[in-house]
Amino acid sequence: MSTPVKERQQARVTKDRPLLELENIGKSYGNVNALRGVSLNVRAGEVTCVLGDNGAGKSTLIKIVSGLHDYTDGVMRLNGIERRFNSPRVAQAAGIATVYQDLALAPLMSVWRNFFLGNEIHKGLLRTLDIDTMKEIAGSELEKMGIVIPDLDRPVGSLSGGQRQCIAIARAIYFGAKVIILDEPTAALGVKQSGVVLKYIVKARDAGLGVIFITHNPHHAYLVGNHFIVLKLGRVVLDAHRDELTLDQLTGEMAGGQELAELSHELRTADPSKVVEPHTVEHGGVPAPELSQDEIVVAGTDAKEDA
Ligand code: ADP
Repeated sequence: MSTPVKERQQARVTKDRPLLELENIGKSYGNVNALRGVSLNVRAGEVTCVLGDNGAGKSTLIKIVSGLHDYTDGVMRLNGIERRFNSPRVAQAAGIATVYQDLALAPLMSVWRNFFLGNEIHKGLLRTLDIDTMKEIAGSELEKMGIVIPDLDRPVGSLSGGQRQCIAIARAIYFGAKVIILDEPTAALGVKQSGVVLKYIVKARDAGLGVIFITHNPHHAYLVGNHFIVLKLGRVVLDAHRDELTLDQLTGEMAGGQELAELSHELRTADPSKVVEPHTVEHGGVPAPELSQDEIVVAGTDAKEDA
């Protein structure tokens, strides 16, 4: 029996509708316009990368989506419904998880305690902590993500930066996040640890979450991203899907493409012998990580189509 056309259309609308939509979002702090006319869509099963230099407005964007700040213009919709989160708790309850650079993990507490921080399971009339159950769940959830931590009683502070990021990501997925915002998760990490975190970004995406990956690093973004937004002085200067953009274009945009060319021109008039042409500087001066796309095992758009 065929599905009525209207139902089929409705299903398509729901499937194609982004999880999170920002339309012409603006944010002013007094007379500073931190964001102006910012529109972006975050879809389930996709990594949306938000790139930008210092002062571009990335933190302000995170704060709006995670309920720390309200926006002054535009509309934010979650699952098609207009939302204004009055606090991080409201945003969390709506399925928005934010993994900040400082991670909000307690370094002296064990891995399992951190996994359940603020969401502890209790048992019995005395409501004592159900340690066994929490350990079991934390262990199996981390295992599902491929994170092997032999001793869950170890303090989180003794783990590597990459492992700590992964615990925070696994925790957000377990507690029902629909959208996960990762604030510069690879900024303080070396090449190998960055690779580990990028793998878990892909896992979060394949678990069906809408991932917002905030980063300075176009190479890391391009390894895992489906969609790229570049912010500059509070405005979107580039909004492109992966198949509309090469890594060189993204790197050029981040390095300030046109501005670099103009600077080079100015310098050449000053002392032509000491100027290096921007296009001869590999990767616009940003060190390339020793990671290939194969190493990160990016499923590209296939995973989405399979879903
Ligand atoms: P990024 O995270 O990309 O470095 P921010 O969102 O922190 O950018 O900042 C964007 C702009 O908004 C900057 O010009 C910054 O000085 C300004 N800004 C950010 N937070 C505040 C605030 N609380 N009060 C006034 N101005 C702010």
